[in-house]
This record gives sequence, structure tokens and C-alpha cells, in this order.
Amino acid sequence: MTAWTRRHCVCTEVRNLDYEEAAAALKIKADWLRDHISELPHQKYGQNPAVFCHCDLRLIQAMNAKVPARAQEVLNAPADQAAPVPAETSTVRSLATSRPAKGRARRAVAQT
Ligand SMILES: [Zn+2]
Repeated sequence: MTAWTRRHCVCTEVRNLDYEEAAAALKIKADWLRDHISELPHQKYGQNPAVFCHCDLRLIQAMNAKVPARAQEVLNAPADQAAPVPAETSTVRSLATSRPAKGRARRAVAQT
């Protein structure tokens, strides 16, 4: 049996969650965590119930992520095939930083 490692844990302070808190964070039923605990990253201190840090939850989340093939294609696309990024010209920059028209200005646009 391989030794348990916590390489995935980047916690700088201990803020563990119990089954109910972990389930609430994941928006799942605590019973699912209990039923699958032997397959899930967690911490176990003697006879105490298992506890989870947020790194455990992130790993559980990744283990259960369903990414359709089409989404994988997009994720794996080379950067030059990814969605085009507009060149940063003064026009683009001003549009990006401008706010939606409100009140009178919006009505004025709608009338044109
Ligand atoms: Zn952690």
C-alpha cells in the first residue's frame, strides 16, 4: 500500500471541514462522501470521523469533473487556435473600459 501523501494540500492554516460542511461546500449529500470515503482524499485521526480541507475538496471536485470531448478539444487547442483576442488598440481599450449607456444616453441611442 502506498503511503498517504498530502502533496495536493497547500493550506497555510488548518481549517478542516466535517462531512456535513464538506458536503455543503460541494453541494452534495454527506452520505455520498461517507459511501465513497475510501476512494476520496481526506484526513483521518484515529477513531474520529474523516475531515477534509479545501484542497481535499478541490481534488474530489477534479476527480468527479465531467468534461465533454468538445470541451476538451477547446481546452487542448493551441493558443493560436483559441478564441481570437482583439488587438489592443486605443479604440478597443476605450470600449472595454466604457460603461453601458444609462438613462438619457441609452434612449438617445435607441432613437437613432
Ligand atoms: Zn489543504
